[in-house]
Amino acid sequence: MNLKIPSPLTKINSHFLKNKGVELYIKRDDLIHEIISGNKWRKLKYNFLHAKKSKIKNIVSFGGKYSNHLHALSFVSKQFKIQSIGIVRGEREKNLNHTLSFCIENGMKLIFIDRSSYRTNKYDKKFLENIKTSQGNFYLLPEGGNNKLGVKGCKEIISEIDIEFDYFCSSVGTGCTASGVIQKLPSNKKFIGFSPFKKNHEQISVIQNHCSNEKKNWYIFTDTEFGGFGKFNKELLDFINEFYHEHKIKLDHIYNGKQLFNLFILIKKNFFPKKTRIIALHTGGIQGLESLNKFI
Ligand SMILES: *Cc1c(COP(=O)(O)O)cnc(C)c1O
Repeated sequence: MNLKIPSPLTKINSHFLKNKGVELYIKRDDLIHEIISGNKWRKLKYNFLHAKKSKIKNIVSFGGKYSNHLHALSFVSKQFKIQSIGIVRGEREKNLNHTLSFCIENGMKLIFIDRSSYRTNKYDKKFLENIKTSQGNFYLLPEGGNNKLGVKGCKEIISEIDIEFDYFCSSVGTGCTASGVIQKLPSNKKFIGFSPFKKNHEQISVIQNHCSNEKKNWYIFTDTEFGGFGKFNKELLDFINEFYHEHKIKLDHIYNGKQLFNLFILIKKNFFPKKTRIIALHTGGIQGLESLNKFI
């Protein structure tokens, strides 16, 4: 795999930022690879190095039908010649969408389970035993690649940055990426996370579990603008469009579009003092747009 690592930093120039006296850079993890873009490679890297070393044959993980994680997992598994098995939330639909078709093309086996069993049984012993019986022994990768090895890979995002900055921002799903970043972030810099959910307590507890209690330099905002996960409106799509036309950077409408929209609101409200330098992580996720046919 030809990976663009360290991923570049792109400075965002605009009158708005100039007037506010704030500097904004985007850490372009979306450019790492055309398929496994964004934080997904960060989280898979050490899991796959471990899997290869341990001669693991099967790898099982979980996700929704638009999952960027399953999408990336299927592709990386194929490169590493490991059989991937994706447990998908919800009923199987007659015509699989772009994300799941891609998973199948890469040889991933898909097992569908209904939403309520998914929520309650996904890590259930008996459920996993049944998979073992039907599919053989496997390496269990939690949903979103959220484990210690995932966090380890995400620490490298901060190690790669060679300029000074005050704030590091990212969208926050499981909290794995945020945990790696926070672990590595010096105490004179702050992390701001943007949750695509209406709540943030699960992510807060994930971060608290992964990081030491001494870390206080982080905060997670919830999605108050758009009404929660997967929800969006014309205002968001207009913002994404405009951002693309001005800066030639595509943003997905689940994570990064919302992150930058909400970051711009904070800048508008003078949340950041003048001369603040912010780095926002582009976590990728562009493949999800294709499934929705919403692309700009
Ligand atoms: C998975 C994903 C996230 C969330 O990352 P976590 O490590 O689960 O917090 C953010 N943005 C995009 C585009 C993603 O695909």
